[in-house]
Amino acid sequence: MTAMLRAVSWAFRGLRNSSKPLSARMSSSSADRSCALAEKVAVITGSTKGIGFAIARRLAQDGAHVVISSRKQQNVDRAVAMLQGEGLSVTGTVCHVGKAEDRERLVATALEHCGGVDFLVCVAGVNPLVGSTLGASEQVWDKILDVNVKSPALLLSQLLPHMENRGTGSVVLVSSMVAYMPIPKLGVYNTSKTALLGLCKSLAVELAPKGIRVNCLVPGIIKTEFSQAEKSLPYLLPDLNDIYGLQRFGEPEECAGIVAFLCSPDASYITGENIVVAGYSPKL
Ligand code: NAP
Repeated sequence: MTAMLRAVSWAFRGLRNSSKPLSARMSSSSADRSCALAEKVAVITGSTKGIGFAIARRLAQDGAHVVISSRKQQNVDRAVAMLQGEGLSVTGTVCHVGKAEDRERLVATALEHCGGVDFLVCVAGVNPLVGSTLGASEQVWDKILDVNVKSPALLLSQLLPHMENRGTGSVVLVSSMVAYMPIPKLGVYNTSKTALLGLCKSLAVELAPKGIRVNCLVPGIIKTEFSQAEKSLPYLLPDLNDIYGLQRFGEPEECAGIVAFLCSPDASYITGENIVVAGYSPKL
């Protein structure tokens, strides 16, 4: 108890004695904000289209060097050319996140071009099955869990030595509202996205002593090719959005801002959070 009181009084003394007011030290001016991520390096999986592409563009606009990746070379080439055409600092490589050799190449590319990594954003996700959970084959289970759940953890374990030595780091996983509100016929995918909420919590606890923060973006329905492919399903989420929410689907850019924030110094005391971007709250 005495030790605790001593620690609290020490913390308050530190705040009182600081030469700048807390508000000045914590907030960044708008001039700072445009390069809030300067000198930082971000690796983003599944970043040649949709949500991942919007995140890549936003982190690069905020000053980071971004390593773009996805399965298809032509998608990587197109995304890199588009962002370089906007004057942004990006490189790219093919990486199917379910393949160990591709993950190794992604890590090597980041190190070769940038010498280290500060942020990992794991966007790549798949859903090859519309059908009952118990009817899913072992192959389908393996594919969904490999890509959606195992690959972020395996890629992070490969990148960790190169993040640790930078002093601080931020990891963002991408789950889904179906983690909280499962959609019928997407049972295996729903399960994989719920697992990511748990992975976020476990990694946050494990990596906090190393100064690496881990948070999870939880999108609702965002206008991308992925959500278009699922649009024939009997949806629950649009109904909830109509009743309780902003009554429209989200744009990929509306996911990118929160990821930029989670990577920025403004989020330096935030870890282990699952943050919903859905136009409504699952807690209503
Ligand atoms: P999208 O527009 O279809 O883009 C998917 C991106 O991931 C593409 O760049 C694709 O490029 C890449 N990709 C697909 N499989 C991959 C793999 N195995 N390894 C590496 N890259 C891969 O999809 P999105 O809507 O942006 O979805 C992105 C993430 O958000 C997914 O995890 C999804 O579950 C989640 N999410 C989406 C929504 C939504 O409404 N859109 C809602 C909740 C959660 P290649 O084809 O070249 O590989």
